[in-house]
Amino acid sequence: MGALQNCMRVVGWIPVIFISAVIAWSYYAYVVELCIFTLAKADQRYAQMVFYLLFYHVFLAMFCWSYWQTVFTPLRVIPERFFLSSSELHRFESEDRTENQVEILREICREKRLPVFTRTYGGGMRFCNSCKAIKPDRCHHCSVCNKCILKMDHHCPWVNNCVGYANYKFFVLFLLYAVFYCMYVALTVLPFFIQFWSGGLSNESGRFHILFLFFAAVMFGISTSVLCCMHTHLSLTNRSTLESFRAPVFRPMVQTGGFSHGSFGDNFKEVFGDKKLYWLFLCSQAKVMV
Ligand SMILES: [Zn+2]
Ligand SMILES: [Zn+2]
Repeated sequence: MGALQNCMRVVGWIPVIFISAVIAWSYYAYVVELCIFTLAKADQRYAQMVFYLLFYHVFLAMFCWSYWQTVFTPLRVIPERFFLSSSELHRFESEDRTENQVEILREICREKRLPVFTRTYGGGMRFCNSCKAIKPDRCHHCSVCNKCILKMDHHCPWVNNCVGYANYKFFVLFLLYAVFYCMYVALTVLPFFIQFWSGGLSNESGRFHILFLFFAAVMFGISTSVLCCMHTHLSLTNRSTLESFRAPVFRPMVQTGGFSHGSFGDNFKEVFGDKKLYWLFLCSQAKVMV
């Protein structure tokens, strides 16, 4: 079992290594083949090369930084008080009937004053059998991470991490900076891409790098744009990907409208922070949930 888990852990890094390799190759194709060999050596357009390189490195830095933060931000697991103590667990597990188990969980929730407003589709308490814990609102158990994750959005293999409360802002910024990076590369490479087909490209040896760089930038740019739009919409309406597929059920007498604060601005601030100045930077994280 341990060997299998270790094997799965190693396999989980393959998509991250793939993305890193594509970024490294795009760096070589853009900086060396396009800027140095084509613009500077072959065409002697030095000012254009400096302009290209300057903005390229700004977009690259933001893109890599947001990716790094999404991958390496530690998961936020549920607070200790949501876990059942050994006596509570014994009481819960010694009960055979589901209705009685639900009642026990309700009592524990009342005694500990846990701020839980959502229920299962059957009306019972949301309980994780793997973690032995009452699930806070918006929390879900990730079978890959084998933990309950606060405000879980989804498990993303491309970042080998769960996207949730701790790193959702970083994930959306990663998509946004990926779009900027791809758009910048595609637009600046476009004149050389046209030259390639008209036979006027001066850097003969590196022409295929430039050709594929354009295709890769357009392809990744389109796919990340779609995802970026989708997650911006989810942020504005205060929904996670999981909630967009399966709406949460609230206990009776609790407000409707999901977790939305009622306005796009307030929903957006919950993820991106109160200060507009920091919205596009990888700081000022979301407000405390539980
Ligand atoms: Zn769990
Ligand atoms: Zn996960």
